[in-house]
Amino acid sequence: MRVEVVAVGTELLLGQIVDTNSSWIGEQLAAVGLDSHYQTKVGDNPARIREVMEQALRRSDAVICCGGLGPTQDDLTREVIAEMLGAELVLDETIADRIRAMFASRGREMTANNLRQAMVPTGCTTLAQQPGTAPGLRCPIVVDGVEKVIYAVPGVPYEMREMVEGSILGDLVARSGEPAVIRSRVLRTWGSSESALAETLAGRIEELDQIGNPTLAFLASGVEGIKVRITAKAGDELSAMAALDAEETVLLPLIGHLVFARDDDNMETVVLRLLAERGLSLAAAETLTGGFVASRLTAVAHAAGVWRGGVVAVSPLTAADDDAAGEAAAVELAESARHQFSADIGLAVHGAPGSGVVHLAIASNDGALGSSLKVPSDRERTRQFSAITVLDILRRVLESEA
Ligand code: ATP
Ligand code: MG
Repeated sequence: MRVEVVAVGTELLLGQIVDTNSSWIGEQLAAVGLDSHYQTKVGDNPARIREVMEQALRRSDAVICCGGLGPTQDDLTREVIAEMLGAELVLDETIADRIRAMFASRGREMTANNLRQAMVPTGCTTLAQQPGTAPGLRCPIVVDGVEKVIYAVPGVPYEMREMVEGSILGDLVARSGEPAVIRSRVLRTWGSSESALAETLAGRIEELDQIGNPTLAFLASGVEGIKVRITAKAGDELSAMAALDAEETVLLPLIGHLVFARDDDNMETVVLRLLAERGLSLAAAETLTGGFVASRLTAVAHAAGVWRGGVVAVSPLTAADDDAAGEAAAVELAESARHQFSADIGLAVHGAPGSGVVHLAIASNDGALGSSLKVPSDRERTRQFSAITVLDILRRVLESEA
């Protein structure tokens, strides 16, 4: 089963936006074991869109086309598909009503061109997910006597993702005749490079390549760490979950010391949960990170009660100050945050901008712990990197006390 991605939009060619849709779709296809050999970008030009789609359909079994489904003159995907199919565009009354209702509920006037989005080529069906105004389309097409399919989805990334996850991947897997259930689990790691992680897991990856199922994939996600994704295919849900569990059991002895979270958890949700479980509260003081730690903690919905607050100050440190002085100052900051917010634990991120070193401290009733860390030279990355690292240190302290 070969699947191609065609991203439509002149803005993609002009570099005004980056084609993240194709890479995301590519990742999803790989995760479910579907081959994808080409990704194409094409501008908003009907002849060229058609040319690219026809080429894709000759060499692949399915094409996912994103973008150009909207209401404006440059949104041409729907018309091109109708033309390729030799189909009429027919107004889908249910979709039209839904679009009218969406405008009415926002108290906005609906211009007539919005109903273009309710036009469906005969022979095509709309996808169940309809987060925006334009519905996604499933368009069966016969090419040289072979049944193939075009999926058309909006360019807006979250709308596209909902449809790919909700309808298209399942459809494709079913068409490919592979086992129906595909489940993945993400182990999120912090503290190792992608190459080191790959080396640690090289033996296992080789074994899995032989077996073919489950599969492992790495996803370097900057300051969010490196994700190790296990994907298992099976005949039913229970067997898929059992395969994920079994693979995790193999991986944890190798990389467990780096794993800070699973799936949708991140560093701050994990830290806050550990604190809540232990009945502890947290406060922070930051210089170098300018509130990054506070901002990330505040963003977590269940933070209230555990996360007390933070202070941001400008660092008096200079690049000439040594690690001992920096750590002592960080400890002092962590202590003062703790007292100021009457929290059980205070943490601090402290450093002179551009010095390449950051000083971290965690203070509690049991005393204080200071450390220094070499950081990337780029200022933005330094701030993010330091924020995550101090939270990771706190996580490790909390877990070791369990
Ligand atoms: P709309 O109803 O918004 O017009 P559409 O299906 O016509 O949706 P486009 O007009 O092509 O989609 O794109 C809408 C927006 O989605 C773009 O302005 C852009 O921000 C984003 N977008 C489009 N294509 C991509 C892509 N390949 N990768 C990332 N973002 C994209
Ligand atoms: Mg558009």
